[in-house]
Amino acid sequence: MFSSAYVSPPVGFWTSLARTEANHEAAHALAAELLSVPIIEARIDQPEPGVLGHVVHDKLPPEASWKHLAILLAPHLVTDRCPEFPLSLHSDDHDVFMAACIAYETSMTEAEYDNATNIIRELLEIGTSQSALKALASALLEHGLLQGDEVRRIIRDAEQAHRNARKQEAS
Ligand SMILES: [Zn+2]
Repeated sequence: MFSSAYVSPPVGFWTSLARTEANHEAAHALAAELLSVPIIEARIDQPEPGVLGHVVHDKLPPEASWKHLAILLAPHLVTDRCPEFPLSLHSDDHDVFMAACIAYETSMTEAEYDNATNIIRELLEIGTSQSALKALASALLEHGLLQGDEVRRIIRDAEQAHRNARKQEAS
């Protein structure tokens, strides 16, 4: 357990590091929702000492561990830095290390890895997802902490606003 004396930084503390962190956690959160994995919370208000942010989602059954891997690698896919297969168990990037553990524990093949990362990359690339990513990152910077239902509402609203803007352009 962490010390209860630890206090999260106040809203307004945000630096460029926080903006990077907001984009990072937004990618994890959106990937989970796109794969129908319910989010419990997303935050960038230093939930634990030494941890800038995190996304907590429902536990996944073993047969859905590819989704966990895809959620972990989503920020890398958004920034076009998908790690090569096989993933290193010695990676100092926590997400890549966790993904490597999953790939190792489930004896994931390269084809399965390509499949998982391609599915989530394509979902993240569509226009509605790009709008949702921006909206989620902005909301994280504003509030620091978002509950799962807030994450879902922000994604739905951003996707709808994106579609409405498209419809107006077409008419
Ligand atoms: Zn991460």
